[in-house]
Amino acid sequence: MNANSATLRLNTVHYGLKAGVLGATNDRALLVTQGCSHVKCPGCTSPRTWNADGGELTTVDALLAWLKRLPRLAGLTITGGEPTDQSAALVVLLKCFRKALPEAEVVLYSALTWRKLGKYHAELIGLCDVVIAGPYARDLPPTSLAGSSNQTVHLLTPRAERLYAGWQDWPLHQMQIKQQRPGELLLVGIPSREMPAALATLNMDNTEM
Ligand code: SF4
Repeated sequence: MNANSATLRLNTVHYGLKAGVLGATNDRALLVTQGCSHVKCPGCTSPRTWNADGGELTTVDALLAWLKRLPRLAGLTITGGEPTDQSAALVVLLKCFRKALPEAEVVLYSALTWRKLGKYHAELIGLCDVVIAGPYARDLPPTSLAGSSNQTVHLLTPRAERLYAGWQDWPLHQMQIKQQRPGELLLVGIPSREMPAALATLNMDNTEM
């Protein structure tokens, strides 16, 4: 698979994540992959990402072109759905992204455990600075980087060690909410238990690609 032929099915793309919202740096892009083959987590706030035939299909080439056009792009956060369902295409994307923007951080969220990621997706996690691993567990408290405290945070590069020093003390529930279209909101971050589920609505962002 190469950048010309690789495709990704995405639920949402967004640019402008702030420091502390699913990552350390300002001016990150967000990719929310479409499709979740994981055993469905009770309390999942993103059921609209489950359908593997939903979202929109885009080529890695087009995605890279969009990312390269973004001003001040400092990083990329990838979540889902379950990103590892599209591991091969993400490897293609991240290899090119690393070459084009070597200073940018890459953050990956996966419901797979760290052991399974190492066993089945070593190439993918080898292209990341930070991996947050493990399924969402509704009954466990959130942390500054994860929806539930069972999810493990792995700092894989010197850049990650520097950017994420003391992340456990970052404020909880840093969120970004953006009006997508009339009646549609994009909510990004780790919500509190009290936040109405109706707010956790992810839609295809209208950021131009
Ligand atoms: S929390 Fe993530 S892995 Fe779990 S069901 Fe929802 S989208 Fe799938």
